[in-house]
Amino acid sequence: MEYRDLKAQYRQHKEAIDGAIRATVERGQFIGGEPVTRLEEALANYVGVRHCISCANGTDALLLALMAWGVGEGDAVFVPDFTFFSTAEVVPWVGAEPVFVDIDGDTFNMSPQALEKAVNDVREEGRLHPRAVIAVDLFGQCAEYEKIRGIAEKYGLLLLEDAAQGFGGRIGEKRACSFGDISTTSFFPAKPLGCYGDGGAVFTDNDEWAALLRSYKVHGKGIDKYDNIRIGMNSRLDTVQAAVLLEKLRFFEEELERCNKAADFYTERLRDRVKTPTILPGHYSSWAQYTVRFADEKQREAAASRLKEAGIPSMIYYRKPMHALEAFAYLQTREGSCKTADEASRTCLSLPMHAYLQESELDAVTKLI
Ligand SMILES: *Cc1c(COP(=O)(O)O)cnc(C)c1O
Repeated sequence: MEYRDLKAQYRQHKEAIDGAIRATVERGQFIGGEPVTRLEEALANYVGVRHCISCANGTDALLLALMAWGVGEGDAVFVPDFTFFSTAEVVPWVGAEPVFVDIDGDTFNMSPQALEKAVNDVREEGRLHPRAVIAVDLFGQCAEYEKIRGIAEKYGLLLLEDAAQGFGGRIGEKRACSFGDISTTSFFPAKPLGCYGDGGAVFTDNDEWAALLRSYKVHGKGIDKYDNIRIGMNSRLDTVQAAVLLEKLRFFEEELERCNKAADFYTERLRDRVKTPTILPGHYSSWAQYTVRFADEKQREAAASRLKEAGIPSMIYYRKPMHALEAFAYLQTREGSCKTADEASRTCLSLPMHAYLQESELDAVTKLI
């Protein structure tokens, strides 16, 4: 069994994907060009925002957003304590300081209450200027944007949505990547919408930021890339990747529905055994991960080994919360300030999840749990 079966997806859509790759190679344009422009239009349209700026990966996308805002030294950026490293990694890159915020035990997403408390703590201490919040759509479910937006507005914070895992998810009719002042996603192969290498995108309704993002991603270009008017970086989405994504976008909705069916099957079978994922009313998840929680670490490890013995892969996202990673030891985050994240990291287990799981496979997983 595959944890995320990219080969099954390819087999299903081989002709279209092969055709798109071949056409790009035959045209001989590998950077920029029509597929990239068409993809950006299609993605902006899909999400429902004015601008989509493609880039090299989801980490760069976050970094570009902070650069466009001029976030830097002396700024505090609030980041959930339970997420992939990138979300916080980009903050010291621009010279600012990440402040870790505890999560909600049901959704794994940033707790709005904990966010407000963290903002007030930073204000009281007075050392840093609260500047931005990065909310993550963890495991495919959008964060609680109504509440988080309210707090951001109350304290004058910029809101960055990290939808690397959330792309395709929504709240009501509003899609992931439309909730932040700037929003970002990743096209890493295993993400909900993945390409055949690295890729990412930034989304915004703001024309001025969009222009800055387009400049920063190409060496701080002015009129062209040989007219450099600011220090930027080289962060482009390859043309071949854009061509692959344009094909995959055609069947993306269908895949999302299949993932939701698989998740329903899991939840139906597992809800009396383990803590199954909570999807908030009105939220639609893209199921980047299907993550359950066990009563304790011992039970989690036992279940993981039972699955492994049967040849079924499972993953622990994430074994360490951000504040416990060595890279962030310098922040000296107070022990016990993110208790729910600590607890989640000890008890969570993510199960195989993709659009091509067979009922027999889902059945085998649930029986072992
Ligand atoms: C994968 C991921 C990223 C980074 O994306 P890359 O394309 O791998 O750089 C950022 N944030 C979260 C939450 C992710 O899961």
